[in-house]
Amino acid sequence: MERNFQHAEPFRIKVVEPIKKTTRAYRTEALKEAQYNAFRLKAEDVYVDCLTDSGTTAMSTEQWSAMMLGDESYAGCKSFYKLEASAQEVFGMPYVQPTHQGRGADFIMAQYYAKPGKYAIGNMHFDTFHGNAEILGAIPVDCVIDAGLDAASPAEDFKGNIDLNKVQKILDEHGPDSISVIIITVTCNNNGGQPVSMANIKAVSEFAQAHNIPVVIDSARLAENAWFIKTREPGYADKDIREITREMFSYCETATMSSKKDGLVNIGGLIVTRNHDFYLYSNVQAIVHEGFITYGGQSGRDMEALAVGLLEATTDDYLEYRINQVKYLGDRLKEKGIPCVEPSGGHGIYVDARRFFPHIPQPEFPAQRLVVALYQEAGIRAVEMGGCAFGGKDPVTGEPTWPALELMRISVSRRVYTNNHLDCIVDALEYIYSKRDEYRGMKLIYEGPITALRHFTAGFELL
Ligand SMILES: *Cc1c(COP(=O)(O)O)cnc(C)c1O
Repeated sequence: MERNFQHAEPFRIKVVEPIKKTTRAYRTEALKEAQYNAFRLKAEDVYVDCLTDSGTTAMSTEQWSAMMLGDESYAGCKSFYKLEASAQEVFGMPYVQPTHQGRGADFIMAQYYAKPGKYAIGNMHFDTFHGNAEILGAIPVDCVIDAGLDAASPAEDFKGNIDLNKVQKILDEHGPDSISVIIITVTCNNNGGQPVSMANIKAVSEFAQAHNIPVVIDSARLAENAWFIKTREPGYADKDIREITREMFSYCETATMSSKKDGLVNIGGLIVTRNHDFYLYSNVQAIVHEGFITYGGQSGRDMEALAVGLLEATTDDYLEYRINQVKYLGDRLKEKGIPCVEPSGGHGIYVDARRFFPHIPQPEFPAQRLVVALYQEAGIRAVEMGGCAFGGKDPVTGEPTWPALELMRISVSRRVYTNNHLDCIVDALEYIYSKRDEYRGMKLIYEGPITALRHFTAGFELL
């Protein structure tokens, strides 16, 4: 067999953006000013920014040159038809409605598919759909498999899968008409960027069809999910990525997408559907909330970049580089004994703060404490996905509630950082881990009016 020596990035760097270095004393002051909330730091004070993989992509020469062709006509612009053709190629569905971001698509989808008093089932709902469902009076429920809810569970190929026994139980307890929609999020962001298998998507679809429930796929990271299917699921190794994505979407009625992830662009969203009635509904909703049908809040140049980005993201060369870079970070952290969700996910590494700081109880925000330590020591910004982001209050008793997972997500932006940057994260976490016993927890001192959104604006004190 021919040996592969071409295992580096499938691109070279043409433009660079300088980043500022800061001292520990400077960062200590910045943290104080931000009330120890990473969202409140200034990006220019961050050395390696792993807050999110959303909208942070570096675009290619092909995308930048396509932008020059942007047709800024109000109605029926050329750029829309290019985007429509790309989306049809990737999703294999006929109707395409652009939106300003993924949450614009979420909003319109929720208005149509979520019903007051009815259950909206997901593997793990993304927070923007969750918020929309709550506002509508629907009941969003996560039915991911148990292994997906335990950060210490052994590595398993598809921890984003839906447990249909849990869904059946809801139908048994609340009646055959109690579920209005099932939403599969690929990959599953909330538990580690973990993929959903084709077999599970198909099984959910068959189950839903038998019970007359529509299936929607929240597809921000559709290409990363397809790569995991190709490399982990029997029968897919020789298939083209777009064959795999089209099969994934053959099992749903509608897809929503935040194109800020696998669209490889900095802004934008999509609705793609085979339901003509919903398509007409989304046209009207777009006109009211997003923009006219053929732009939905995007400029012609945005749609040009997305038309190219969707095709670039669904290639083997790009995905092999992408998933291997994230895995590199995961493997190196594992070498150092840092407890992470395993296997490595598609868009980042999730450190298990329960095991990292076992002496800090969840109400004292161990994952947030780790975010603060990582910034203070190294100027690296990650994000808390634990008690602050997903905790809340019991609607009846008002008592605080705490999520199953207490994680710090280190998101890896697409085509932005080199492995040298990732090595800085490994060095800093190794250092913090070596003196983990010295850390105390945190106290929440400000949470704003809406608990579900508190992580964006919260303020903390160090204990
Ligand atoms: C980012 C994201 C959204 C929301 O999209 P925005 O573009 O940020 O508005 C919805 N669902 C998933 C799975 C996402 O990752």
